[in-house]
Amino acid sequence: MQIAFDKLSSTPKSFELSLSGVNLSGTLNKQHHNTVMLDGVLSGVLEVSCDRCGVLFGVSIDQPLKLELSQSTRQNKDNLDIIEFLDGVMDLEYVLQSEIDSIKSAYHYCEKCEGVDNFEVEI
Ligand SMILES: [Zn+2]
Repeated sequence: MQIAFDKLSSTPKSFELSLSGVNLSGTLNKQHHNTVMLDGVLSGVLEVSCDRCGVLFGVSIDQPLKLELSQSTRQNKDNLDIIEFLDGVMDLEYVLQSEIDSIKSAYHYCEKCEGVDNFEVEI
């Protein structure tokens, strides 16, 4: 889903899309000429692999997502909550894919391996 910065106004525009079982819905609200606030929610079930045994399993996702989308180079390079779209077109699939990648890159343990951890602690 691609939306041009020029098409947005200060009136929030709602959107919804899904990718790999994860749904992103919310609103886009233009703040200034160059920036748009994305205020949304990530939900769904994402398939990840266990970092210990490699088995695939689903983790349920339900978390808010607030990002600033900018069509100019950001001033504060340390702010990771800003995504740049320098051609003036926001690509929401790209935003959702980045979120999915960051969830996937976190450590995940399946129920069995989490249980092993607890068992070892008890000994
Ligand atoms: Zn496991």
